[in-house]
Amino acid sequence: MRLSRFFLPVAKEAPADAQIISHKLMLRAGLVRQTAAGIYAWLPLGLRVLRKIEQIVREEQDRAGAVELLMPTIQSADLWRQSGRYDDYGAEMLRIKDRHDREMLFGPTAEEVITSIFAASAKSYRDLPRTLYNIQWKFRDEVRPRFGVMRGREFLMKDAYSFDLDEAGARHSYNRMFVAYLRTYRRMGLRAIPMQADTGPIGGDLSHEFIVLAPTGESEVFYHRNWEQDRDLNVNPDDADALQAFVTGLTDDYAATDEKRDEAREAAGGDAIQQSRGIEVGHIFYFGTKYSKAMGMSVQGPDGNAIIPQMGSYGIGVSRLMGAIIEASHDDNGIIWPESVAPYRIGLINMRVDDANCTAASDALYERLTAAGVEVLYDDRDERGGAKFAQMDVIGLPWQVVIGPKGLEKGVVELKNRATGEKQELSADDLFNKMTAK
Ligand code: ATP
Ligand code: MG
Repeated sequence: MRLSRFFLPVAKEAPADAQIISHKLMLRAGLVRQTAAGIYAWLPLGLRVLRKIEQIVREEQDRAGAVELLMPTIQSADLWRQSGRYDDYGAEMLRIKDRHDREMLFGPTAEEVITSIFAASAKSYRDLPRTLYNIQWKFRDEVRPRFGVMRGREFLMKDAYSFDLDEAGARHSYNRMFVAYLRTYRRMGLRAIPMQADTGPIGGDLSHEFIVLAPTGESEVFYHRNWEQDRDLNVNPDDADALQAFVTGLTDDYAATDEKRDEAREAAGGDAIQQSRGIEVGHIFYFGTKYSKAMGMSVQGPDGNAIIPQMGSYGIGVSRLMGAIIEASHDDNGIIWPESVAPYRIGLINMRVDDANCTAASDALYERLTAAGVEVLYDDRDERGGAKFAQMDVIGLPWQVVIGPKGLEKGVVELKNRATGEKQELSADDLFNKMTAK
């Protein structure tokens, strides 16, 4: 993409109400623009990152055996009356009336919708187990939307729902998601700690929140100092025993929110526990038959008796993750995108647009890399070099390539690694080979 034809409305200075670094940088890098309180437009650069985060989430859900569908954002109030949650949910629910005065709402979550869809077709024990998911916009009328996309009112969530015949099956489904979550966050360069959590208004017996450590996070967390970041996550999702052993080993090792802190402290032996702040990037629940029962769902078992399916639900804050990744990966000059979610892999800077040689070399390398499938954002604008450098640093692409007349005389271009700041000079051919290797 040529910057001269792109849409990258960067803010020179972040507005005063942007309190945390990720929010400031998202505005300064032209990723999002607020259109109403807690509601954001995703600008082209931000949309590319959002799509990549979403794709990693999707791949790990698929790997865990979940099946994707897409449910609507607008739901009928009747469904929520059936589960008994319509009145309980409170002011966070955005309630809408259609022209016939029917009560509708913008979905804050989708347990009722998925249960009604699945119940209508699953009639036999043979139709289970199933885990279904979608990646869809949610709306929660938060009292205090803040920190940009971190706590928005409209936000993108991956929500999955499992249906099993018995508790052991449900636990297996839960454990699959547990490991899928760890894999998902790791692929984004995040260290996310699973913590035993309260089940809250969704209700139920078993629940974990996944927390990315960050000083600006809204959650207080306690974790074991031996928490092992690099543990092997290659557990076969179909092997129930291996999964259970893995999850048990890991949760014994740690983590808890406020309420469970004392229990955990005791279990871990006093001073092994560290305290920090963190960002909740996912939350999983096992809640038994709470919704299946309320929604009148049952399937016929092998012996002819009715079985009420055991359910779980599993959320990931897809749009919140963008803020969390930036909180975890930035420096004084701007964002440092992990390669896996970077909007482009390379930022190519033409230092002298008015120099025919320089422009020919820049155009050629841009076209060659792009044709080879490398994502390049090409700064071909007639601007000062200093301004171009600063902007590239703010938007944080993993690699920067600088092409200037002096280097070209020596037959080299400059390659800079955004994360380490390391620079090297190499020929355009070598650079091309390096960037297209493997
Ligand atoms: P929180 O305690 O942060 O309000 P929650 O417990 O209400 O989160 P869940 O209902 O479990 O959240 O939703 C699943 C995930 O969706 C959360 O883990 C979080 O990552 C994300 N999420 C929830 N609310 C918001 C929001 N207002 N803005 C952006 N992401 C959100
Ligand atoms: Mg909430």
